[in-house]
Amino acid sequence: MKNLKHKPETVSELQLYLNELYGEVNKSRNVEYMFSYLFRNASYLARSIPRGQNCVQNFIKTFSWLFAIANKLEIDLEDAYLRKYPGVCPYCITKPCICSKTNKKPISYIKEWKIQEELGHKYNVAKSANPSPSMDSFVEKTNDLYPANIHIWKAAGPAFHFFRLLEELGEVHEAYTSFCRGAKDKHEIENELADCFAWTLSSWGIHYLGESLQDSFITYYYNSCPVCSSIPCKCEAYSDRGEMLVKIEELRLYREKIKELLEAAPDHSELLQSVIEDLQFAESDGKTAVAITAVKQSESALEKLSSQLGQVDNSAKSVASIIASAKAILGTFNWLS
Ligand SMILES: [Zn+2]
Ligand SMILES: [Zn+2]
Repeated sequence: MKNLKHKPETVSELQLYLNELYGEVNKSRNVEYMFSYLFRNASYLARSIPRGQNCVQNFIKTFSWLFAIANKLEIDLEDAYLRKYPGVCPYCITKPCICSKTNKKPISYIKEWKIQEELGHKYNVAKSANPSPSMDSFVEKTNDLYPANIHIWKAAGPAFHFFRLLEELGEVHEAYTSFCRGAKDKHEIENELADCFAWTLSSWGIHYLGESLQDSFITYYYNSCPVCSSIPCKCEAYSDRGEMLVKIEELRLYREKIKELLEAAPDHSELLQSVIEDLQFAESDGKTAVAITAVKQSESALEKLSSQLGQVDNSAKSVASIIASAKAILGTFNWLS
């Protein structure tokens, strides 16, 4: 990060940095405001993964709103996570978790106070074993603890993960309202935020296996707030650009690719020419709905062209490779639904 000599290396440092960036503007925003953005970004994340879209930003934003709520409520998310997941599952007190066999309890009867003591002991051990945990070490810890979740994702897709995240989001809200009316203390919110954190960490670890989440955070926030380009952020409330709005520059890049295709496949000029015209119209019109229709029609045109490619000679290969890169560009269109 440009303004820092030392980049955030731990989860706590990252939380602190986000507080420097957003703490001031978030002073006037309440937890409900932040929760609604957390919910929105988590839902966009859930949608973008099955669609094969680039969802690094969705991940970063979901994590960032979790940190924002934690900052607002003066909760240390690193500590909350370690208290909830101190290297063993908090229900079966085992690693990896065996809850599916034991029905969310220890394998043999253990008195409740002993469980609490054991978790406290494990927390101290985890703290001293790694006093400076990074986001990446938490990703790894979570998936080592719950390997069954990786198998579920691989076999059935990410729906289960996001169903659980949705459930945990509801529980964060419930813990918060209980806290507001004085029925429960802040510890409950810490617990539930830790759960949301864990499901999101696990999703990152499966979807972006081997990619550094800590580095992705630094890339995203390297210059400043990516929306208003200021440190600290000066964004007005509700001033987000709305991730669902068409990005004209992306559309233009895609059109350039189709132009390249037109040169490589002159036999299909009629079809490609009309695709280019429709995209051009969408760019000048600027409406998301118009852009979506133009892009979807272009996708069908690409499919048609792919199916008509002749024998695999060099020119067909080059056309196929341009089509592949056009599709790769499409994969980055988060506004496409
Ligand atoms: Zn368990
Ligand atoms: Zn900003």
